[in-house]
Amino acid sequence: MQIRVLPSNLIDQIAAGEVIERPASALKELIENSLDAEAKRIDIELLAGGTRLIRVSDDGRGIPGESLPLALARHATSKIQSLEDLERVATLGFRGEALPSMASVGRLKLSSRAQHAAGAWCIESNGGDVHAAKPAPHPPGTTVELRELFFNTPARRKFLRTERTEFVHCDAAVRHLALARFDVEWRLRHNEREVLELARATTREQQEARLSMVCGSEFLDHARYLEREIEGMKLRGWLAEPSYSRSQADMQYTFVNSRFVRDKLLRHAVRLGYEDVLFHGRHPAYVLYIELDPKRVDVNAHPAKLEIRFRDSRLVHDLVFRTVEATLATGLVSDTETAPRTPPARAPQAKQGSFRLDDRQRGHGVREAATLYERLHAQPIASSSDDEMPPLGYALAQLSGVYVLAQNRDGLIIVDMHAAHERVVYEQLKAALADSKLSMQPLLVPVPLRLSLAEADLLEQWETQLAELGISIRRRGPDEVQIDGMPLALQDGDAEVLLRDIVSDLAADEGPKRVGQAVDALLATMACHGALRANRRLTLDEMNALLRQMESTERSGQCNHGRPTWTQLTIADLDRLFLRGR
Ligand code: ADP
Ligand code: MG
Repeated sequence: MQIRVLPSNLIDQIAAGEVIERPASALKELIENSLDAEAKRIDIELLAGGTRLIRVSDDGRGIPGESLPLALARHATSKIQSLEDLERVATLGFRGEALPSMASVGRLKLSSRAQHAAGAWCIESNGGDVHAAKPAPHPPGTTVELRELFFNTPARRKFLRTERTEFVHCDAAVRHLALARFDVEWRLRHNEREVLELARATTREQQEARLSMVCGSEFLDHARYLEREIEGMKLRGWLAEPSYSRSQADMQYTFVNSRFVRDKLLRHAVRLGYEDVLFHGRHPAYVLYIELDPKRVDVNAHPAKLEIRFRDSRLVHDLVFRTVEATLATGLVSDTETAPRTPPARAPQAKQGSFRLDDRQRGHGVREAATLYERLHAQPIASSSDDEMPPLGYALAQLSGVYVLAQNRDGLIIVDMHAAHERVVYEQLKAALADSKLSMQPLLVPVPLRLSLAEADLLEQWETQLAELGISIRRRGPDEVQIDGMPLALQDGDAEVLLRDIVSDLAADEGPKRVGQAVDALLATMACHGALRANRRLTLDEMNALLRQMESTERSGQCNHGRPTWTQLTIADLDRLFLRGR
């Protein structure tokens, strides 16, 4: 066959194969265009699950008449002009592909009136055959009608499911976008019936009302609000308490700069935050928003832009994991309300030495009394002579399941117990590795691990390095790997969860890293698993042991992710706080 340049319409149809998979993807692109045009109100009308008609009307900026043909031209966009623009893109679209793709696989009519323009114009395309623009009635804003999607591409049409299924996908797309933009008013109609009508939601109460309309009121009844900002990154959102966990991962919404994304890193960070409080096989429910400088994310990683890449992924992971963990920790310790609602305890399956279930089943009352007793009798707490006082002092109490409070010569010490312990474990693992003492301990019950073929291959490639870290694995089948042994230091943790994390760490790294670096990363993952989790109640002895370990650990002032592990409030700081002159 001769080499020839493809006809332009075929190029559009090929592009449509990537971005317009089904009615819901066309709908998503249309709504995103309205949002990019700063619409404050979006009306959506669907017929037959979007297969017969998708109509999206907005009150946004509109398109000047002379630009209408360009809007349907391939690679024509008003959103970026240069590579620099691409690297800090803040709009949802930027590829200039959606409208020409839709126009090539359906019957499209675009009507628009630019704000302040004297009149409106419209342009039509029939499967890519574009007619001349002509004047038309339309208020300021834009309406796109897409009829008979895939009428000219039978192969694609074959993949359409029932009207009902296509509608469910459209409905989900609208809900995602409605959660992404509380400041926009939405209306969705299907087959001439009202499905969703959402007023603008500015206050948190109004936002929660929208949340309960979109996710159901039960979600909201069990949700905890969180808000946190570090290093220019803002995280806010709602997490369902573990008692509202689900059997499917179907209520997990993450938004980055108002873009709905499915991101492995975020999902992983949230799951880790829930790890100690969620039963095996259950999925958490959450709606989380991250705002950060657009330069710090790469959104050009996927044609439908559902996947993104964070430039400082460790930091994002850490922010999400820590905030989720801390949000779930507060209240759970003291909140006996939630205890009866958790499903009945099952025996920990094949998880030798795992402490999580037992810890919560034990009577808290007994532990509390014991702790109180120790507090009264065991320690020569603060009054011990100054020369014997260790630098980080002696433990006083545990706060909120997350912090250890201690007193030293200068005043109050506050320790983030997970971060501190993580650093201690990390340094121990490193030292043990250097002395080749990271010895493997065979598991009593080997743990089978079902993976994808690619994941199993990946893990197998790393078998030798993992063995050096004390992790013994064996390939059992194309999609199965068995964990036979774990290092002694990690016998308390959950081998399966650790290995799954290791696989996703290995898979997430683009390009081969130096082995040393990769091993450090594996150690960090192992340390994170081996470290104390929020909500783990500690006795004063255990807290003091942690303080002593921190004192004898190098770089214990920071966790592996560079965050501080403890801080001091001196007596002078406290005096200042209480305006007490001395
Ligand atoms: P992209 O969104 O990637 O720029 P599209 O093919 O989706 O590409 O849209 C092409 C152009 O048409 C956009 O850049 C924008 O200028 C214009 N446009 C599309 N939809 C609207 C709308 N609802 N309101 C205003 N302008 C729009
Ligand atoms: Mg677009």
